[in-house]
Amino acid sequence: MVDGAPSRLVVLAGPTAVGKGTVSADVRAHHPEVWISVSATTRAPRPGEVDGVHYWFVSDEEFDRMVAEDELLEWAVVHKAARYGTPRKPVEEALAAGRPAMLEIDLQGARQVRQTMPGALFVFLAPPSWEELVRRLVGRGTESEEERERRLETARVELAAESEFDVTIVNREVHDAAEQLVTLMTLGIPSDTPMSEEA
Ligand code: 5GP
Repeated sequence: MVDGAPSRLVVLAGPTAVGKGTVSADVRAHHPEVWISVSATTRAPRPGEVDGVHYWFVSDEEFDRMVAEDELLEWAVVHKAARYGTPRKPVEEALAAGRPAMLEIDLQGARQVRQTMPGALFVFLAPPSWEELVRRLVGRGTESEEERERRLETARVELAAESEFDVTIVNREVHDAAEQLVTLMTLGIPSDTPMSEEA
């Protein structure tokens, strides 16, 4: 981190299957100085996921309590399946301690943070192309035609949200995207250099 650079909250969002989780895992692996929020979720852990590391795995009742007691900075139902939310206090503590802090959340959550923390930096992670996103979304080919169509429609709507963001990073190569993100967190947006590679 550059001396004297302000610590700032960065919100990373983007369409489903663009690779937000992989990019944030790369930041976690290479940049211990960056604090990454651990979300609470009502979904069950996948094999290898550790409570308190990948998520806080909580019951529906516990999630209800966190919402009622205003412990979450934002929360949303994702993929019509489970609730996910950002515990507020650790974010505030990281920022107060001067650490660069990052949230990796869905678009609904990013919009809520935009309302409550307008000073945050909103980063949209974009796929290299529409074709590549389709490949990542339906690549396994195990979904029904109806499910495939539903996912593609969601992706179209999600991609249209790019203009709501401060800056776009194109996820061509995971480590490269992660490094661009960390540079943004520590140095801010270069005034004369658009981050989008197309520009
Ligand atoms: P997964 O279940 O695959 O780990 O995550 C599913 C989705 O939930 C991803 O798009 C991820 O960005 C989103 N997500 C994870 N944590 C949060 C959170 O705290 N808030 C919101 N709004 N979305 C989240």
